[in-house]
Amino acid sequence: MLTHIQRRELAKICNSILFDISISSYTTFKVGGNVEALCDVREMKELIELVRYLYKKDIPYAIIGNGSNVLVSDAGFDGVIVRLKGKFEKIDKPVVDDKGVVLNIGAGATIPQLLRYCIKNGLGGAEFLAGIPGTIGGATAMNAGAFGEEIGKKIDQITMVTAHGDLVSKKGSELRFSYRDMHIQPGSIITGVWLRLNHSDTGIVKKRISEHLRIRSQSQPLNYPSAGCIFKNPEGHKAGKLIDEVGLKGKSRGGAMISQRHANFIINTGNAKTADIMALIRIIREEIKEKKGIELEPEIRFIGFG
Ligand SMILES: Cc1cc2nc3c(=O)[nH]c(=O)nc-3n(C[C@H](O)[C@H](O)[C@H](O)COP(=O)(O)OP(=O)(O)OC[C@H]3O[C@@H](n4cnc5c(N)ncnc54)[C@H](O)[C@@H]3O)c2cc1C
Repeated sequence: MLTHIQRRELAKICNSILFDISISSYTTFKVGGNVEALCDVREMKELIELVRYLYKKDIPYAIIGNGSNVLVSDAGFDGVIVRLKGKFEKIDKPVVDDKGVVLNIGAGATIPQLLRYCIKNGLGGAEFLAGIPGTIGGATAMNAGAFGEEIGKKIDQITMVTAHGDLVSKKGSELRFSYRDMHIQPGSIITGVWLRLNHSDTGIVKKRISEHLRIRSQSQPLNYPSAGCIFKNPEGHKAGKLIDEVGLKGKSRGGAMISQRHANFIINTGNAKTADIMALIRIIREEIKEKKGIELEPEIRFIGFG
């Protein structure tokens, strides 16, 4: 629990901080309880000072981007949630080298923002990200992917602030990207990403993005709050197909339901609690284990579960 003094000191470090605030409107699932502090950090000096303070005082913290792949407990989170805003949302001018084009993007910039930039500047290679409602930092941490491509394969290097508050760079090859995962020290906050792209025709980039969005709108329940796919696809299987085959589409608990449109999505039909979503996750895992002999592994990340 944050003390009064810690709250005062945090408010001095962070220009934009809210205390005892419901996290639900900061996640795409629209669920989750109160967090002790939500801090929108706007520049590097502020971030480093904040992380060093949290480390010194042993205060728990978690970084989120757009909250589109997280499930926060109904009990909330005792600690500080950090988001990257301001200068971390910037996209620099592309740099051309002998291998193509490299774009330096702040980790707080969003994927739609990146794609708008790519269309405007005739840059190709990131179109597969269209429809993923995250930030560049979140996409990198999750090695977000779609249509057979992953962001990790495009990353030249990143900068990050370690849990001790040191700013370091890492080459893409050091990050050990794997299916919806990558390797950085726990507590590290990615601050910038260098994406390797290519020059392309604006019309073609636009067309590819539209096509990806069209395919998603046909197969995903985009009218409801969700966190995208709940489970990773097990080797050789599609999690959604397995869930469909055991007849769980449409099953609901409280305000949460396994989507009829895409069985690997759990949707919030209006007044879901995190506990409702957790109950469905448990049911799915048990049924798939029993009927298919397969352990489903969640893709989403959990915050505030102890
Ligand atoms: C409708 C819908 C469709 C989706 N489709 C896809 C898809 O096709 N493919 C796919 O891969 N995902 C998909 N997702 C999931 C999600 O959008 C992606 O994983 C996205 O990249 C997460 O970004 P975020 O900024 O929202 O991260 P968050 O959800 O906020 O965080 C996710 C994880 O990343 C960590 N993190 C966030 N920012 C940073 C940072 N700066 N430094 C270090 N760690 C950080 C968090 O601590 C957390 O562990 C979908 C989600 C929705 C709602």
